[in-house]
Amino acid sequence: MDVIRTVEAYREIVDDAHSQVHPVGLVPTMGAFHDGHRSIMRRAVEERDTVIVSVFVNPLQFGEGEDYDRYPRGEEDDIAVAEAQGVEVMFLPTVEEMYPEYPPMITVDPGSLGDRFEGAARPGHFRGVLTVVARLLDLSGTCRVYFGEKDAQQLFLVRKMAAEIAPRVEVVGCPTIREADGLAMSSRNVYLEPEERAAAACLHRGLQDAQHLLKDGETDAAPLAAAIRAAVEAEPLADLDYAVLVDDMTFEELGSVDLRGSPARALVAARIGATRLIDNLLLANS
Ligand code: AMP
Repeated sequence: MDVIRTVEAYREIVDDAHSQVHPVGLVPTMGAFHDGHRSIMRRAVEERDTVIVSVFVNPLQFGEGEDYDRYPRGEEDDIAVAEAQGVEVMFLPTVEEMYPEYPPMITVDPGSLGDRFEGAARPGHFRGVLTVVARLLDLSGTCRVYFGEKDAQQLFLVRKMAAEIAPRVEVVGCPTIREADGLAMSSRNVYLEPEERAAAACLHRGLQDAQHLLKDGETDAAPLAAAIRAAVEAEPLADLDYAVLVDDMTFEELGSVDLRGSPARALVAARIGATRLIDNLLLANS
């Protein structure tokens, strides 16, 4: 596996892959790999000849008072994990390398959805995400880029951005990988104290409760969201931020689930102690 740190080296590798007609796959990450990252890398390696995994803790997507400084970092372990999945190239740029000028003057506007749900809790977050992803996509040219459904709003916005300004890019969504008790894997789970770790399963429990209610015939969004809220609020260590249902095709909040229409996705965010966690579930109709 090649470990590269500069934009120049990235361009050379991509130019070389394109000239050999090797399909390129890109997996953008912030490192501290877990099985969610592993499964995305394996999918990319299955589908593409040249797979590049980027690890960049992007300061632009962290707000003031967020965990940029203490975000888990472990370069050596990450390199070993990526190599073991069959990744060909690992890109580990510095902030200076990604942003010739910081903060950058030109950024990508995520539109009004950038201010809702995760964006309401984290002002500027999606502008930061889309700006760094746009730069990676520009460097990669024609490629498939892989993102996890775990961050559903991010995946939605990246799909929109690709459709609107990067038509050579195909965005692939990958399923959420979970711990045995349903907690979605996340690099931030290492922040959780043992009691908090046990409490954190309430997000997934709430999503499943909503799923069961829908299967029992409840299609109004209010009681479905209330079921999620109840599961989180039953947990004394958890502090709910939002529980909503959105149309998976538009990310507009739903008043009710139309069983013959586009699928509904339930979104939940909560703070467990000092750690903010998010999760979501595509609600099945039957
Ligand atoms: P991150 O390093 O947290 O920025 O995540 C890198 C990529 O992995 C993003 O596309 C995430 O959506 C995805 N991801 C994070 N957690 C999971 C998970 N539990 N299952 C699947 N994908 C995930």
